[in-house]
Amino acid sequence: MKAQVKRIFDERARKELDVLEDEGSTPRIKAVTGRYLTLLAEAGYLIPGVGPQSRKDIVGLMAIQEELAQISGSLFLSVEVTARMFAGVVRGFGDPSKTGEMTERVQRGQAIGAVAVSEPAKPGFTGSIYTRARADKDCYVVSGEKDFVTNGPIADYLAVFGRIEDKLAVFLVQPGDQGLCMSPRLKTLGYNGLAVCSLKLDEVVLSSERVLGPFDEDAALDFVRHTENLILCVASLGLMQRSIFSAKAHAARQEREGKSVIAHQEVRFKLAEMLTLLQSSQLLTYRAGWLYGNSDREAATLVHCAKVFTAEAAERVSGLAMQIMAGQGYLWGNPVERCYREAKYAALAGTTSERARMSIADDLLARYQ
Ligand SMILES: Cc1cc2nc3c(=O)[nH]c(=O)nc-3n(C[C@H](O)[C@H](O)[C@H](O)COP(=O)(O)OP(=O)(O)OC[C@H]3O[C@@H](n4cnc5c(N)ncnc54)[C@H](O)[C@@H]3O)c2cc1C
Repeated sequence: MKAQVKRIFDERARKELDVLEDEGSTPRIKAVTGRYLTLLAEAGYLIPGVGPQSRKDIVGLMAIQEELAQISGSLFLSVEVTARMFAGVVRGFGDPSKTGEMTERVQRGQAIGAVAVSEPAKPGFTGSIYTRARADKDCYVVSGEKDFVTNGPIADYLAVFGRIEDKLAVFLVQPGDQGLCMSPRLKTLGYNGLAVCSLKLDEVVLSSERVLGPFDEDAALDFVRHTENLILCVASLGLMQRSIFSAKAHAARQEREGKSVIAHQEVRFKLAEMLTLLQSSQLLTYRAGWLYGNSDREAATLVHCAKVFTAEAAERVSGLAMQIMAGQGYLWGNPVERCYREAKYAALAGTTSERARMSIADDLLARYQ
């Protein structure tokens, strides 16, 4: 499948994705993402690792995810939010007789999905989710706000996390639902080929078929958080690979003081450090995926360790790549400048590095008491 993914993204496709990064309008992002989703579906990319029941596939899945992540970070994140996060929640926690068609459309690459968990801070509120629904006859009426939703502006379906009384539930909304209001697309520092917006739900009425839950436990939330964190680890691996490839190619091409840049020891040491960080990140990510796939009790800790390490390694590697390319790297729009901007994302998205460190320390204390 790695070879198939490579074949889809030939020179022409990569150029198209580059243009999307620099000047992609929302309709263009929707059209291009939709087209590649269909091609990836035909290659079987959207099938493995969907939902908690497919956890066992995760290590194999990571190998093919890495292939896409090194081609385009934005497309990778958009595809994974659709295929692994949205479809994973619906398949893992929905009733197939009600949501089967939705999952099938996504797995055939015919629909784009989004998952909305994060919310703006609410003074005095100590929980993590305040989007709420109340039952009204056969329906639920949902109200709340979500502040960043990847794929939001281009999604066909959105899985919005909230609560019914105190129990977790997932509300399946669609653009055009009355009371659902999307902000204009948000401008971000990096991953500019990704369409992100915020959401407001003002008394959105949903039939019970479009509500997953209410659940007695928060397993759906844990699933989506671990899945997102592992996706962000792989996004960082792809970013490091792009940085190393560009810096090495530049250093081998460019001559200074009578020898190629790569012949200078200081530059070679940087490349050595970059490769060491990439390899260590890869090992840790695959180990976290393997433990998660085997439902090991240490899995959650290792996913957090991998998330923190790979995010910080990606920042370091893209910084070193820019140092090697110097002025050329600093020019707007080249791959290393893009990686440098994108690298920050992994540390602040999903479980932030601070929250992850707190959780690692908690796990450690609990284990060695
Ligand atoms: C481009 C983009 C796309 C996104 N896409 C999605 C999406 O599709 N779906 C979705 O649900 N979310 C999405 N997000 C949201 C993202 O997951 C959040 O930004 C992330 O979870 C951090 O939350 P926050 O921004 O509210 O930061 P805050 O929680 O406000 O944190 C602010 C700071 O305080 C620290 N902090 C907070 N709590 C603690 C604590 N308990 N212990 C220690 N430190 C703490 C944080 O680490 C951080 O440094 C996206 C964000 C961006 C920027």
